[in-house]
Amino acid sequence: MFDRSRRNLLSRRRTPALPRMPWVVDEDTFVDSCTRCNKCVNACETQIIVKGDGGFPIIDFNRGECTFCTRCAEACPESLFRPTTEQPWGLKAQITPSCFAHNKIECRSCGDMCEVQAIRFKLQAGGVALPELDTDACNGCGACLSVCPASAISMTTKN
Ligand code: SF4
Ligand code: SF4
Ligand code: SF4
Repeated sequence: MFDRSRRNLLSRRRTPALPRMPWVVDEDTFVDSCTRCNKCVNACETQIIVKGDGGFPIIDFNRGECTFCTRCAEACPESLFRPTTEQPWGLKAQITPSCFAHNKIECRSCGDMCEVQAIRFKLQAGGVALPELDTDACNGCGACLSVCPASAISMTTKN
């Protein structure tokens, strides 16, 4: 029998630093009902789901991208995922000023990785082309994050 008060103590209701999986329900419901069985961790085709605080699964985009394969949702024995026909999440990439191109070093790695072409490069007079993110087009897959040599990309819901 799982002790819910202990589970709540472990999770402390903090918003996790890293995101949960796509289509996951709200955070309170998630930590109340996730049994930390690891089935989603083992099912993920790109192995980006890892154990976070308290053993609850989170996404680590430093390991790769989400392909929206839906395997995590299918593997979960609890009712913790919304229908996968819905939008997966509100995550968007964010490019910070430590970007090489912003520091006059030519780089287009993130744009090369973006399947939906949400990162376009704009030529600057006398400078290097700067990346511009189309937040409407970005689906939050995270493919751009691990390839950035400047660690200048983060994933956020606050764009
Ligand atoms: S949708 Fe697929 S790739 Fe994305 S987190 Fe779930 S199992 Fe991993
Ligand atoms: S998160 Fe995915 S869709 Fe968004 S900019 Fe990066 S690669 Fe493109
Ligand atoms: S991969 Fe990183 S350093 Fe290169 S252009 Fe994109 S954000 Fe800038």
